[in-house]
Amino acid sequence: MALSEDIQNFIHEIALENFLRYLQIETTSSEKTGTHPSTPEQLDLGKLLKEELTKLGLENIIHDEFGYVYADLKASEGYENAPSIGFIAHMDTSPAASGKNVKYIIHEKYDGSTITFPKDEKLTITIKDSPELTKMIGLDIITASGDTLLGADDKAGIAEIMAALTAWKKYSELKHGPITVCFTPDEEIGEGTEKIDMERLNQLKCAYTMDGGEMGELETECFDAWKAEFEFIGLSVHPGYAKDKMINAISVASRFFSQIPEKETPEQTENREGFYHLYDLSGGEEKASAKMIIRDFEVENNKRRMDYLKSLKDTFENQYKGLEIKAKFTHSYENMNTFLIDYPEIVKKAEKVILDAGLELIRTAIRGGTDGARLSARGLPTPNIFAGGMLFHSRKEYIPTLALQKATEVILLIARNWVNED
Ligand SMILES: [Zn+2]
Repeated sequence: MALSEDIQNFIHEIALENFLRYLQIETTSSEKTGTHPSTPEQLDLGKLLKEELTKLGLENIIHDEFGYVYADLKASEGYENAPSIGFIAHMDTSPAASGKNVKYIIHEKYDGSTITFPKDEKLTITIKDSPELTKMIGLDIITASGDTLLGADDKAGIAEIMAALTAWKKYSELKHGPITVCFTPDEEIGEGTEKIDMERLNQLKCAYTMDGGEMGELETECFDAWKAEFEFIGLSVHPGYAKDKMINAISVASRFFSQIPEKETPEQTENREGFYHLYDLSGGEEKASAKMIIRDFEVENNKRRMDYLKSLKDTFENQYKGLEIKAKFTHSYENMNTFLIDYPEIVKKAEKVILDAGLELIRTAIRGGTDGARLSARGLPTPNIFAGGMLFHSRKEYIPTLALQKATEVILLIARNWVNED
């Protein structure tokens, strides 16, 4: 059953207010610092959230030294024994574009035309950039001003969770069991769960990350992800006298990687297709090194790719006597479907309430990773629900205000569904 119009209007307003407040705090994470959190600015948003959670009357509020924020909401009266569930969103924004001094613009009642930006006249958003815009005609759309990203990924998720908490406080008819919320730093650099308190989170039955894209999206699959590191050890000899003696490591390495089928690279794959992606190659005659990621939704396909690389290593070592190739494969994260498949009700409830909120259910597989995958692997089943932002990690990032409301509705409905009060 859908929520009343009164509640819908209330959460529209609160989620929007929250979002516009949070996007003004710079929280860009950085791969370069090696600290936790990776940038001190993320602590500013955490501090604000802690204050707001305190005002909302939550319990066991923690803002720890690594930047994580945790808080518990007591169950509605009579539902103390219902399963505890969690809602998670990340505080940082992608280092791919600036997140400093974000100035938002609300494009009221979007009319389908090209969206332009005051701070960069060449920058536009067209239907070609984002075909989903055709579904958003008549809605209010928020963008930044052209010089920064917007930060809907994932401050929209935080705004929605905080709006749900506000609605639970105001409307006692919105029943729910015990709820835990968790806001993480450094998701964009792959470290969102690095210092997370699993002991606390593993007391939950399940959690949902609010970090997907388009309204209606639900994701239960992501890549099975591997990293491969190579070292080519050759032999340098004066090039004038090198015949049958020199083993040119960098030159052999480039021949090695030219054996990767081009059809299995990111440039030529989409949807459920996997790939090899060489992203670093450097060195000289004596030594060369290379880094690669390997991705697929099926573990077997990744195993096949690694077997192929191992057979190439043997072939090359046979062909160039004295050459040594070291190859190291590490597993970065697993397809979360491997874990979620055992908990169909966690996914079914999310599917049901997305439809109850009046949305079209969009099931996609993430061509990347998610904190939910790492949490699922560590014992907390965590599918990913839309937060509503589009074209993220970009100065073109946008979100319709309705998405903020709809994601908040989904949070409220899912909690109600877990106490069987539909
Ligand atoms: Zn995100």
